[in-house]
Amino acid sequence: MAIELRRCPFCGSNVVMQGGHLQIGSCDYQYMQCADCEAEGPHMVTRDLARTAWNLRIAGRPMQEVWAAWEEMRMEENNATE
Ligand SMILES: [Zn+2]
Repeated sequence: MAIELRRCPFCGSNVVMQGGHLQIGSCDYQYMQCADCEAEGPHMVTRDLARTAWNLRIAGRPMQEVWAAWEEMRMEENNATE
């Protein structure tokens, strides 16, 4: 399920894309990046989580809330398939 990305909070661009990968030890982190000002979203272990984190970061929320929203989203997905 694709998560729609919000505009960049820094330059207002709506061109936000997959920023790439960051290998740390055995973990492969992904992040979203603004194509215009190159602002990076939080580095996360999955692309969907990186997208969620990008959207929540715009509202200036702490990471704790990003995780809570992620859990909520997963629960909704589970409910939809059952
Ligand atoms: Zn930007």
